[in-house]
Amino acid sequence: MHDITEKEKYMLKQKINAQEAAAIKKIFGECRNVVIVCHTSPDGDAIGSSLGLYEYLKRKGKNVTVIVPNYFPDFLHWMKDADKIIMFERNKSLSYSIIGMADLICCLDFNDMRRIDELGVPVGRAKCRKVLIDHHLNPDKSKFDFIISRPELSSTSELVFRIIDALGDTGAITFAGAEDLYAGMATDTGFLSFNSNDPDLFVIISELLRKGIDKDQINRRIQNNFSPDRLRLIGYVLYEKLEVYPDLHASLFAIRKEELTQFHYLKGDMEGIVNMPLQIKGHKLSICLREDTERPLIRVSTRSVDDFPCNELCSQFFNGGGHKNAAGGTLECTMDEAIDITKEALEAWRERLQA
Ligand code: 5GP
Ligand code: MN
Repeated sequence: MHDITEKEKYMLKQKINAQEAAAIKKIFGECRNVVIVCHTSPDGDAIGSSLGLYEYLKRKGKNVTVIVPNYFPDFLHWMKDADKIIMFERNKSLSYSIIGMADLICCLDFNDMRRIDELGVPVGRAKCRKVLIDHHLNPDKSKFDFIISRPELSSTSELVFRIIDALGDTGAITFAGAEDLYAGMATDTGFLSFNSNDPDLFVIISELLRKGIDKDQINRRIQNNFSPDRLRLIGYVLYEKLEVYPDLHASLFAIRKEELTQFHYLKGDMEGIVNMPLQIKGHKLSICLREDTERPLIRVSTRSVDDFPCNELCSQFFNGGGHKNAAGGTLECTMDEAIDITKEALEAWRERLQA
């Protein structure tokens, strides 16, 4: 048996090099008013990494504000200071004035200003330093003064932990910060069921547990926070709507606005349903088409296993992108047209899907 020594406890594979650590140390050292922004329709990792970094920088005596483009789901509202997050869509003038006073903007969990929609206007105009901390492929390098991009990592939350670790400062991670970072890592890995084979991930979670977090409770707060309607919506989607293409190891479901209304749809209710068809034996790809309840758009979500590249499929057919196994996009057309485009996409990828 090999005992884990104190030193090994923190021996993460070096992902942040000494120059990057020095640069970040200088940037964090020189700022006073920090704004943290993350992508539109923030998920657990976007909110978790933003609030995790917020907690850390507040601990370092900074004046920090998290601004998100729009609403984030109810199952993330338990996080400390989630109620202090400013929603740009509802507080534009306040957001403009806070961004105007910032001397540092940290952009988390997105790779391109287009992913923050209209919030990109004040962020783009701001003259202060902009830092990108993210794990999506191909960051738009032209828009940021300093970039730490690690597509190989599970989550931006993991990256935030690694940055703090590289600064030798994990002691400054608060209990709430540890909860936030765990929540981000957990949600971006389907509670450690995909993208989660790096042993370091478990070392990091172990460190967060040492801060006293109750990960089982956090999992419950996130996973068991739905209405009866959401459960019935899942039943309806799987029973009535799911179209399975056995020869392609793929499936598709399309859900219209009227159907969502029938289940008193609240934002977030469709979250995760797209993963379910991957439970079918041998399945490689699941596609969800959802009519947006506010704008005339079809939202596309895709999930895959192993090496099937959802991001390539989404950039080819759905004006989108994302990760290899989880990507999305949007279509500006009717649902019937969207279904036709999706069938075309399946046809185009037939060989890879059949293999
Ligand atoms: P979801 O299916 O949960 O909405 O999105 C899964 C992932 O796909 C997101 O984490 C994000 O990386 C990516 N994604 C979703 N929608 C878009 C989009 O419209 N454009 C791009 N580039 N990526 C997207
Ligand atoms: Mn993420």
